[in-house]
Amino acid sequence: MAQVEKRTASVPALLEWEYAPAPEARDIVQIRERYGLFVGGEEVEPRSGEWFESISPSTEEILFEAALAGAEDVDLAVSAARGAFDNGWAKLAPAERAKYLYRIARIIQERSRELAVAESLDGGKPIRESRDVDLPLAAAHFFYYAGWADKLEYAYPNRTPRPLGVAAQIIPWNFPLLMLSWKIAPALACGNTVVLKPAETTPLTALLFADICRQAELPPGVVNIVTGDGTTGGHLVRHGGIDKLAFTGSTEVGKLIMRELAGRDVRLTLELGGKAANIVFDDAALDQAVEGIVNGIYFNQGHVCCAGSRLLVQESIYEPLLEKLKRRLSTLRVGDPLDKNTDVGAINSKAQLDRITELVASGEAEGAEMYQPDCRLPERGYWFVPTLFTNVAQSHRIAQEEIFGPVLSVLTFRTPEEAVEKANNTPYGLSAGVWTEKGSRILWMVERLRAGVVWANTFNRFDPTSPFGGYKESGFGREGGRHGLAPYLRFE
Ligand code: NAP
Ligand code: MG
Repeated sequence: MAQVEKRTASVPALLEWEYAPAPEARDIVQIRERYGLFVGGEEVEPRSGEWFESISPSTEEILFEAALAGAEDVDLAVSAARGAFDNGWAKLAPAERAKYLYRIARIIQERSRELAVAESLDGGKPIRESRDVDLPLAAAHFFYYAGWADKLEYAYPNRTPRPLGVAAQIIPWNFPLLMLSWKIAPALACGNTVVLKPAETTPLTALLFADICRQAELPPGVVNIVTGDGTTGGHLVRHGGIDKLAFTGSTEVGKLIMRELAGRDVRLTLELGGKAANIVFDDAALDQAVEGIVNGIYFNQGHVCCAGSRLLVQESIYEPLLEKLKRRLSTLRVGDPLDKNTDVGAINSKAQLDRITELVASGEAEGAEMYQPDCRLPERGYWFVPTLFTNVAQSHRIAQEEIFGPVLSVLTFRTPEEAVEKANNTPYGLSAGVWTEKGSRILWMVERLRAGVVWANTFNRFDPTSPFGGYKESGFGREGGRHGLAPYLRFE
């Protein structure tokens, strides 16, 4: 009897086991104190004489300083890209271009642990994601477009595809190396040269990529990296020597860029924000749907343009689904991005944390009901508890505006027609998700949803062969797949 008692008494003790962290070693990446600009195949000091700091958002420690490129620096980078274009890159046999891209892809694979740790340190995303999603996809993009470099005539039979020239590329902070790959791989495969500006808060992997270009012996000037802030981006947009501008970021800056380029002979692609609907029908496999909802909005702290930030649930399954979802939320582990068990890492910057906090406050003020699981957050760094709102009206700001954080707005519907109407009631149109066992219903929905990508019984799934891009205020042009070649080619 005493023994039985002892055993029962030990059960709570088991449940109270301390959590054992599983940190990834950070010494695989050697971060220097300072990084210059990458122009003409060399690291150069900025003519501007200015520098800025990049911090780790999970600890607020200063990681390094990067050059803040001014107008003269941007001009030098564009000249270097023009020189490389004229002096041979565009004329190189396409199969030779392909070899460089393959080489870059292989080096990304070889250095993937280092790059994954760098990405998590500089941007705050969980190592599990940078290691298992960002890095494999970045390498896959280079492999995929390497394959296209010498097959452009097959992609466009009876036409003569030619490169555009110098491509200016501006990328955001949510998937720094992956967005770099989405931009650089197709541009180079088509024979263009590049000036790329990474985001102010996450320049590290782009700077390491500069080193990869040198390692791959890419001809000088084919890729140039200009770090800086929004003003650097502005210099690049206004530069008269660019032939193409590819931008991923906010709709606000996208509109500014479009105005700036009006009347100029510069090809433009914009990949902007989103407010995707993730639609769950009453016949869906609920546990599977819950995983998809969680992946849809809490993946990468919700810093995802195609995040499933509006959950539309069919009324008859609202209660069981919400119960399962809340239970699942309480198991998410928020904390150190370098811990291999972390599900939700740090918010990328103080500015983004403030924006999320402000929008969440508006949700409460407008009458929606907030739910957050019990969650202990680290003391330093920028964090936000995975949050969901019920009783959300379509007019609420949290149902209309892109929050770009781990915040889900839950709405309901009765009929498929109502689901379509609510899903499309947004100025955006980047992605959507449909959960149902019925194939015919998936097809019916896909025909009616105004979104560039519709996932069925899955969410946030990416592949370099699959085109990605928006409708309406989510932008235009496609990245990925054969479609991703066209924005970097001309045919006259
Ligand atoms: P953002 O300002 O549009 O930043 C995107 C890129 O554009 C960054 O490299 C940025 O540089 C640069 N930039 C800023 N102002 C510019 C200008 N006037 N001319 C040229 N380039 C400029 O986006 P954000 O401020 O980082 O984020 C704000 C919101 O944008 C987020 O809350 C989210 O809603 C949305 N967003 C969407 C995506 C997406 O993938 N679609 C990605 C990120 C953010 P700096 O970083 O140096 O300022
Ligand atoms: Mg940083």
